[in-house]
Amino acid sequence: MSKGTPSMGKHSSKKTHIICRRCGKHSFHVRKKVCASCGYGASPRLRTYNWAKNKG
Ligand SMILES: [Zn+2]
Repeated sequence: MSKGTPSMGKHSSKKTHIICRRCGKHSFHVRKKVCASCGYGASPRLRTYNWAKNKG
């Protein structure tokens, strides 16, 4: 029982991500103002990568 991250027990009330208004996921970073999922805030276009597509 000595491995891992000991301080993970207490989750602080700081919110880092909120609901993204574009993709609806809980991935919009509050301070960075950017969505980790769709890239809302960083780019006017949707954050898409070739390697990230799940179909086709
Ligand atoms: Zn998003």
